[in-house]
Amino acid sequence: MVTLSDNLARAKRHLKRFADTPLGHFINGETVPAAETFENRTPVDNSLLGHVARGTPADVDHATAAARDAFAPWRDTPATKRKGILHRMADLIEQRAEEIALVESMDTGQPIRYMSKAAARGAANFRFFADRASEAGDGLALPADHHVNYTLRQPIGPVGVITPWNTPFMLATWKIAPALAAGCTVVHKPAEFSPLTATLLVEIAAEAGLPPGVLNLVNGLGEEAGRALTEHPAIRAIAFVGESITGSRIMAQGASTLKRVHFELGGKNPVIVFDDADLERALDAVVFMIYSLNGERCTSSSRLLVQKSIHDAFVANLVRRVEKIRIGHPLDPATEVGPLIHPVHRSKVMGYMDVAREEGATIAVGGSVADALGPNYVKPTLFTNARNTMRIAQEEIFGPVLTVIPFDDEAEAVALANDVAYGLAGYVWTGDVGRSHRMARDLEAGMVWINSDNVRHLPSPFGGMKASGIGRDGGDYSFDFYMETKNVCVALGSHRIPKLGVT
Ligand code: NAD
Repeated sequence: MVTLSDNLARAKRHLKRFADTPLGHFINGETVPAAETFENRTPVDNSLLGHVARGTPADVDHATAAARDAFAPWRDTPATKRKGILHRMADLIEQRAEEIALVESMDTGQPIRYMSKAAARGAANFRFFADRASEAGDGLALPADHHVNYTLRQPIGPVGVITPWNTPFMLATWKIAPALAAGCTVVHKPAEFSPLTATLLVEIAAEAGLPPGVLNLVNGLGEEAGRALTEHPAIRAIAFVGESITGSRIMAQGASTLKRVHFELGGKNPVIVFDDADLERALDAVVFMIYSLNGERCTSSSRLLVQKSIHDAFVANLVRRVEKIRIGHPLDPATEVGPLIHPVHRSKVMGYMDVAREEGATIAVGGSVADALGPNYVKPTLFTNARNTMRIAQEEIFGPVLTVIPFDDEAEAVALANDVAYGLAGYVWTGDVGRSHRMARDLEAGMVWINSDNVRHLPSPFGGMKASGIGRDGGDYSFDFYMETKNVCVALGSHRIPKLGVT
């Protein structure tokens, strides 16, 4: 059995290079050394992992020029060849799975039990879109009386991909794989709090034979490198995953160049448990969907709406489970909750403990930092006696913190669920088939899971309503974003063309 000390020894080997040499950019197939750098620290104990290039507008311009030059050749590369390269990337991701998992865990604080699947998920993203590369350009035939209309889909051009820190490798592949399969070239700007695995991905791309300039990486800060990317006139579209407020900023920054945007933003997702549900399975899902991935998960079920008739018993069981969640070092295979990403984020999450007290909610479990483990380990926390109007029920906390709110009946459950700014996901637990479909219809959420936790299905649309986003990923939805639909209208030669200038 693998132990924490095994993992620590292996992680040390994989992390050494980042301590030895500052992480640069990767532009046009080459590493570009850092002119200026920023520090990258592990959330485990805030110790230094290394220094990372602090990209400037000039670096973004350099990367964008490479992506622009590489675009036409990549677009015109036969789809079967693109497919082969992307499958080779998936192979190499799988070969480096252990390294990706250990580096990601140390960079993000996410427990290894989840990060051990990061590579498999990333590889699956590449295989899924690789297999669809040949059909990405397919269109419709739309015959009319005197014309045949048909549509073509063509890659939009160089695109910018901006990703957050919570599960960086998986999210980067989720965005980059369809862009490359569609025939776009990419400039990627990863999050400054967890930049390491983005470099592993560009190394893998180069080794797999992806031509120089097709996938470029610029490290740096959001307000600097990120902003420059969103403002660059040669970048045709921005695929962004992150906070809602950043999405608004990016929309404003991209306005003057009429940037197409795709936003996967925050959530305050309800899990709604009715008294006729399978309560044992519901409890498992409630606990998993908020306390896995440190609660730093856009689809986390951070509001539990529970029917009053079962409220007390359900919450009593919940308390027992949350008290037993194992918090610890992210590389310990037994750990269920690890440290939060950064002291800044820890302070934000801990601020909500004060908010809960001020608002009159009860901190039934947790509410403090597990200091013995390190500065960023926030104990799994449960707020009870809450109302939906409280800030702890309205705002995205993005930590291992669940707010419980009771409801009377279906109508109240829908009203409470929808009374937030966000609309990403909803989870419904009921034994009544009719009610499950009514709830699915009435919830303001881009995705609804019935009697289930969040289970990935790559062809299905992924995305949110309201402040949770614009657009959908997954299957053909991803290609629609990275491609332009063109209509071609061909006359059959039988229609009358108006004649001007004839007497
Ligand atoms: P963030 O918005 O702070 O940062 C995300 C990225 O945007 C980073 O790379 C950052 O450098 C960059 N950025 C920041 N300001 C920018 C600017 N002005 N211009 C261009 N780029 C800029 O988000 P975060 O704190 O890294 O991630 C957590 C958030 O991500 C949460 O709100 C979470 O819900 C959301 N998220 C959503 C999904 C989804 O699919 N809906 C998935 C994962 C995370």
